[in-house]
Amino acid sequence: MTHDIFDNTILCKNCNKRMEKVNVVRNSYILRAVVCPACNDKIIHPVDEQNYNKFINLRNKEFNVKMRLVGNSYAVSIPKEIVSFMNTQKSMMDDMVRLCFEEMGKLSLSFGENKENTRVIKAREVRVVKNGKSIIHSKQIYDSAHPEKNQNKIYRSKE
Ligand SMILES: [Zn+2]
Repeated sequence: MTHDIFDNTILCKNCNKRMEKVNVVRNSYILRAVVCPACNDKIIHPVDEQNYNKFINLRNKEFNVKMRLVGNSYAVSIPKEIVSFMNTQKSMMDDMVRLCFEEMGKLSLSFGENKENTRVIKAREVRVVKNGKSIIHSKQIYDSAHPEKNQNKIYRSKE
């Protein structure tokens, strides 16, 4: 193991208090940070900050990929740039990924190390508005950790 700068005691420049290690999540990306318990001043780990910026650059990039027919399936190639980055992040990668037809015109791929322990929470609200009046209002709540709490409520207002 190499020595990490966050293994040192880091003091807040404002309060001179010892800063505590925390994880900060930005756009599902986990960054190591230290935070001052007194003034909440935060320092993001410089390596994570750098990688996060790379991630944002990749995220904002649009890739055109080709679809080709292989047997009974269509194969889409994932740009090497993305896979290499994910590999450096060690967050994946067995060769199995989850594919999900999210909505019309959108397919999503999920990579993750421990799929069973990944908690997925989704909430979606859809409103159908007619003449400025909301006539159908639906609320969907999905929590993989508590499937018994999943809800799909539809409210219809009388016309
Ligand atoms: Zn402070």
